[in-house]
Amino acid sequence: MTMALTVVSRNGREWRLTERIGSGSEGVVYGVDDARPLVAKLVPDPPDPAAYRRRIARLVRQRREPRTVRLLPATTVRVAWPMVGVRTAGPDADGIDGYVMTDMRHAHRPFAHLLTPAARRAPLPRATWATALAAARSLARLLADLHAEGYVVGDLKPDNLWVDDRGEVGMADVDSWQFTDGGELFPGRMGTTGYTAPERIGAPAGTPPDRTSDDFVLAVLVHQLLMGGLHPFAGHPADGSDYLSYDDNVLHGRCRLLDRTSVLLPRSVPPLDLLPRRLTDLLRAAFGGTRPTAAVWAGALAAESAPGRLRTCGANALHVHTVERPWCPWCDLADRAGGTEAAKTTEENTA
Ligand SMILES: [Zn+2]
Repeated sequence: MTMALTVVSRNGREWRLTERIGSGSEGVVYGVDDARPLVAKLVPDPPDPAAYRRRIARLVRQRREPRTVRLLPATTVRVAWPMVGVRTAGPDADGIDGYVMTDMRHAHRPFAHLLTPAARRAPLPRATWATALAAARSLARLLADLHAEGYVVGDLKPDNLWVDDRGEVGMADVDSWQFTDGGELFPGRMGTTGYTAPERIGAPAGTPPDRTSDDFVLAVLVHQLLMGGLHPFAGHPADGSDYLSYDDNVLHGRCRLLDRTSVLLPRSVPPLDLLPRRLTDLLRAAFGGTRPTAAVWAGALAAESAPGRLRTCGANALHVHTVERPWCPWCDLADRAGGTEAAKTTEENTA
């Protein structure tokens, strides 16, 4: 049986919910019957319902405060900010809290669609490495702007991110951000495996995130964007121990960028020298030294996107790479993949 859900705001505005769009770690997102592209996120079991309602009320109020001006420009949706707090209503509803926000699907696609060439083929057929670079820069700029206003994302990950065909990044799940309002701290939630800074892996529940933990995850996402989706801590431990998780590799410093001999990776992964020197240095610092801030990342990524810093391959217009690389890394990768196929065929033929 499908039951039509209705939500109502505190001042009596009602919306009928339409299809269930998706569910995340703590909430469910529904379409909203409205002329504007809106969705509603409902959170059935927040640990402290009163605190959750207060959190939403504060975020809704901040929407009109100076601190959100840069985050909420009129021309584009950078953040799916809570517009109004709502609660389910009706005879069968037991008062689930949530909020109404912009439907990011209106102008964006899920961030994961840009991560690998295979994933981007259908939804973003014209996307290139330059688009991935633009997305990295847009993400860094957005994170720098929200850090400057005292917000911490805490659970930064592809699932909470959106991207358009020009590489402009948008963010959702604002209700999980950490912020202070009127002297009260609204803590961020725990991170997701593969997208957690080492100092927060295994930390006691309730350990608040900070900007530097977001900065670590930013570097992970930049690496994934620029390396065809490859996680910087991917790979089988070279010392013979079992691969457990990205987090385990993070804790043991198993990372190709820091130590080429620490992990075993297939030959099909993009080569390290695909990255401009300046970005390699920042990634090494982020994973093994002093983490660059989001603002530093935004500056470096803008510099690498500048005219003259990118070159398009003569053989394939979708192959874009840094001018520091004398020949096309994407042609190399395609050759290598072709070579593997050929080797396989030979093996099959001789068998
Ligand atoms: Zn090429």
